[in-house]
Amino acid sequence: MTTFLGMPGPPAGPGSDLTGSVPFPAAAREALEDRRLRRNLAHATGTIRAKRAAVVAEVEDWEDLRAAGAAIKADTMARLPELLEQLEARVTERGGVVHWARDAGEANDIVIDLVEQAGASEVVKVKSMATQEIGLNEALATAGITPIETDLAELIVQLANDRPSHILVPAIHRGRAEIREIFLDRMPGLDPDALTDEPTVLAAAARAYLREAFLRSTVAISGANFAIAQTGTLAVVESEGNGRMCLTLPQTLITVMGIEKVLPSWRDLEVFLQLLPRSSTGERMNPYTSMWTGASPGDGPQQVHLILLDNGRTRVLADPQGRSALHCIRCSACLNVCPVYERVGGHAYGSVYPGPIGAILSPQLTGVTGDGVNDSLPYASTLCGACEEVCPVKIPIPDQLVRLRAEHTETYASAHRIPSAEAAAMRAASWMMSDAKRFDRAGRAARLGRLGMRGGRPRLPLPPPLSGWADSRDLPELPRETFREWWARTRGESS
Ligand code: SF4
Repeated sequence: MTTFLGMPGPPAGPGSDLTGSVPFPAAAREALEDRRLRRNLAHATGTIRAKRAAVVAEVEDWEDLRAAGAAIKADTMARLPELLEQLEARVTERGGVVHWARDAGEANDIVIDLVEQAGASEVVKVKSMATQEIGLNEALATAGITPIETDLAELIVQLANDRPSHILVPAIHRGRAEIREIFLDRMPGLDPDALTDEPTVLAAAARAYLREAFLRSTVAISGANFAIAQTGTLAVVESEGNGRMCLTLPQTLITVMGIEKVLPSWRDLEVFLQLLPRSSTGERMNPYTSMWTGASPGDGPQQVHLILLDNGRTRVLADPQGRSALHCIRCSACLNVCPVYERVGGHAYGSVYPGPIGAILSPQLTGVTGDGVNDSLPYASTLCGACEEVCPVKIPIPDQLVRLRAEHTETYASAHRIPSAEAAAMRAASWMMSDAKRFDRAGRAARLGRLGMRGGRPRLPLPPPLSGWADSRDLPELPRETFREWWARTRGESS
């Protein structure tokens, strides 16, 4: 069955892991109290930033590569329906089965059906943002199927019953000592005296634990970094080799992929295989690039399934201004340079997509409603522009943040008869500024505010919402005369 993509689908379904329980400001306030979190984040993001900067500086035509990446993505989005149908035809010709999922619930049901048909009660998983987005692990567990994450950082998060906080390094908020404690607690048979918090020792413990799962599991679940419409080839890039084990050892391979991951041709893949590793892990080339095209008789998984996931994407695609959020290749470079992310970490964003990309993608996938938790995300930014500067596909993230703030303001206003405090203040300012005499009188009246100030601070605490603004800022000294009075005094002219 194919899906008509000309009609935008509904926002992402409620089963998706795209919305937190509290708005960003409240979650961020709590995160800022955690000093250890901030120390871990500052160290990790600083290290990745430096690595990225060094390997990007080696590439003379880096800006040309970025321009090519942006152009390929724009072309892909412009003809996404045609490319997806081409992909479906090529995968099917090569013995794979393509499924279309409108939302998280449909995608999870398809995966569960396929695992049950394979007679498995346990699956090994390759790190995948799409499966996190649809809450697949929780859905599998509810169906009595045990998912085992095989990426080291994902495994740490899973063993700790935690949530990922970074696209690329999901356990970035955990230190080595914490990871050792988690392993001792959750991995059977470890010797506490032999298990130190050295990275190589921890990795060896995880390797031994996972090796047994690789050898006994008959079903693997992956995402895909790219899919090539020209040949029906899927690609996963990774650093640890766990993905390669999952993609080759089990008999059944199920891939869940957002529809925006398709690329027209192999030639296009060449551009992204240069952009992605340098932008994400700061490596010239990722250690493992696995590609497969349908099923190959006698070699690797014999049952190969591809689930194409919408979950709000056609809705984003239908918006010509918001569409570029779908260009994202999940490198996480924008997270690593974001001053807000570095201080609050990924959990504060609520969604599985944190940082600057999460601030524009999550509200668009779920929809801006005026009062929704995700409506606060576009405000989770200083608009410094660092995210756009590093983005390998040149997504104009600050422009999108501003546009989404405007959308939120308008949606809120149309949903409420009583305007917000900010809207009421803006309306009053507009009324005052639209008349020269009113503006003049207001300027003179503001001078009285000098009486209430001392050393850039109000003499008495301001009431909310002004207190929220003034508590963390020095207020400018109010001048003794207005500009108009100064003009009249120095030029002898009336304003
Ligand atoms: S928005 Fe750009 S920088 Fe951020 S994760 Fe996506 S591709 Fe990377």
